[in-house]
Amino acid sequence: MNMLSKKNTINKKGVGILLKVSGRNRLAMSVVAKVMITSVLAVSALVAIMLTNYKIVYKVHINGEEAGYITNKELMEKEINKYVLEGDADNVAYVQLNSTIDYDLMLVKRDTASSEKEIFEAMKNDCEVFYRVYAVNVSGEEKFVLFSQDDAQKIVDDINDKQKNFTKKVEVEVKEKVVQEAEFTTDLQVAVNEIITPLQKENDELVAMNLRYASTKTVSQEVLQALKENLQDLDFGKPLDDGIITSRYGWRSSGYHYGLDIAAATGTPIHASESGVVTYSGWSGSYGYIIKMAHCGGYETYYAHCSKLLVDVGDEITKGDTIALVGSTGRSTGPHVHLEVRYNGQTLDPEAFVYDK
Ligand SMILES: [Zn+2]
Repeated sequence: MNMLSKKNTINKKGVGILLKVSGRNRLAMSVVAKVMITSVLAVSALVAIMLTNYKIVYKVHINGEEAGYITNKELMEKEINKYVLEGDADNVAYVQLNSTIDYDLMLVKRDTASSEKEIFEAMKNDCEVFYRVYAVNVSGEEKFVLFSQDDAQKIVDDINDKQKNFTKKVEVEVKEKVVQEAEFTTDLQVAVNEIITPLQKENDELVAMNLRYASTKTVSQEVLQALKENLQDLDFGKPLDDGIITSRYGWRSSGYHYGLDIAAATGTPIHASESGVVTYSGWSGSYGYIIKMAHCGGYETYYAHCSKLLVDVGDEITKGDTIALVGSTGRSTGPHVHLEVRYNGQTLDPEAFVYDK
């Protein structure tokens, strides 16, 4: 009984102490809870009041300058990225974004208007858009720019088809390039005609001149060897009675010039600078129509861009004979004779031979 009573007492005491502690805790907790609830309510009330009058937005700065407010930053960033990657037009190669865009989170009065559209436009205006376009190059020079690769190829194919049987042809190709702006060719037929019409005229003229084409004749090696071994004195004369030197032998902006250009009207007679044998009479690429002559001692003379050739391969020519007429065939910008003097195949300055004596 004693033992039991003692035990009970201890137990009671223990429970009592426990209860007491628990009671203190509950008190403390209820105070904290009250404060917290009050605070939450107060903050909520404050937030509620603020959100009634204010809203959360992003203030946007473009290149440090205030551009307006937006409500959805993620959406704006997504739209800007899409624009930079793809542009909003056909053939966009890439877009270069030149602005720095900063976002500041802030509260503004609820009735403040957001300006997504204006900000997007401002960003776009500060971008450089590069387009993929297709140029048609004629003889290495850009002539037309097209938006469509197919249209550019159509021009090239049409020109090649039309010049198929021409003596004088042009090289045409499509080149892709990236530009910010260009003047586009829209009428394919007009473009083709712009190239073909003058080319057709030139070719018609060549045919009308009844020119001799590359001769099948050749000069025998014996004749050439005999000429080469004949070391008689040579005295080269002017190929034209009159004429103006327009380009000298040597380096020019366009490259090395292996001859002397003397300009005169189309049809002006070209005289052989020295006596010799004609070794070539015909068309030769950028030389156009050309006469080549072999002279004594390993010398040669060339007379290029002729409008008409008057002698044939193997003809023996005396100095001063008219061998061709001045023209502008081959790569030439106007009527002139391109005179070359060669010694054992090497070009020399013709002016020193023909004019400076
Ligand atoms: Zn020349």
